[in-house]
Amino acid sequence: MRVVIGGGSGFVGRELTRFLCKSGHEVTIISRQPGPGRITWADLESSGLPPCEGAVNLAGENFMHPLRWWNESFKKDLFSSRIDTTRSLAKAIASSSSPPRAWVLVTGVACYKPSQTMQYTEETEWNPFNLFSLLVKEWEAAGSLPENVARNTRHVVVRSGLVLGADGGAIKQMLPPFRLGLGGPLGSGQQPFPWIHVADLAGIIARSLEPPSKPVPSIPEIYNGVAPAQNTNYEFTKALGRVLRRPAVLPAPRLVLQALLGVERAAVLTEGQWVLPKRTLESGYEFQYLNLESALKEIVRS
Ligand code: NDP
Repeated sequence: MRVVIGGGSGFVGRELTRFLCKSGHEVTIISRQPGPGRITWADLESSGLPPCEGAVNLAGENFMHPLRWWNESFKKDLFSSRIDTTRSLAKAIASSSSPPRAWVLVTGVACYKPSQTMQYTEETEWNPFNLFSLLVKEWEAAGSLPENVARNTRHVVVRSGLVLGADGGAIKQMLPPFRLGLGGPLGSGQQPFPWIHVADLAGIIARSLEPPSKPVPSIPEIYNGVAPAQNTNYEFTKALGRVLRRPAVLPAPRLVLQALLGVERAAVLTEGQWVLPKRTLESGYEFQYLNLESALKEIVRS
């Protein structure tokens, strides 16, 4: 199959591309930069969607960008890099003379309100309550397809937890201090820590691109992209320390994180939600990394 991946040059996109190419599929990346195997967003706008059986959007400004201060201009980029690219791809799918059979958008679990007690599944109704949940609402809305296209193109939204992998994401920034024995829990450490190994996120996306076994529903299918294990940030910290054989006892206090990252951005690290991949498991997806220890061992080994 031929798959077009917006933001395919990034952390998740590289893993998905490796996985698809290994299985004999062809990938075209949509990027801000031209290059071999790529088209740009401007090409998509002017020439439309290249012929493909699947389309995915993974584009988005990194919200933990170490060189970007938390201000209005950065927040604007966080929104536009996700919403505008998603809207462009949905528009290109809708105007294609031969739309792909699957359209997969990866968003985040930030739509679910942080809580120590609530458990969220794909069936949970939610309304925006802060900046990040508003982002998810607008992002997912930007991916919707007109009814006549939605009848034949399966639209899947994967709401991802923090993605763990050796080749990028948050853990790349965490590993150096943890290797020096300077790591520790964020804030109280008691907050839920929804996570997924990058290989499983790529696996869930790839599975969504396969020919459907049932008739395509006309509304988006939501899957939570989180491992079934339910861990706190403290448990994650301890597991990473154990795997690295280093102490991991130095906490990063909430006030320090707020000063460094900005209050809204720090809250994503110091608050969390219990998210269950109910529908993902019911769909028959078998996770490769069910617990933190196995995921972190693979990452540290790589
Ligand atoms: P990356 O940070 O690796 O970015 C993916 C790609 O987005 C980049 O390679 C880049 O492609 C493109 N991009 C970056 N900034 C902009 C911008 N300002 N405008 C347009 N495109 C831009 O993301 P990940 O692979 O980690 O994540 C993929 C998706 O999953 C993202 O949308 C992210 O929000 C979401 N997600 C990720 C999580 C994680 O823990 N990693 C958790 C939950 C959701 P290029 O330079 O080629 O244009």
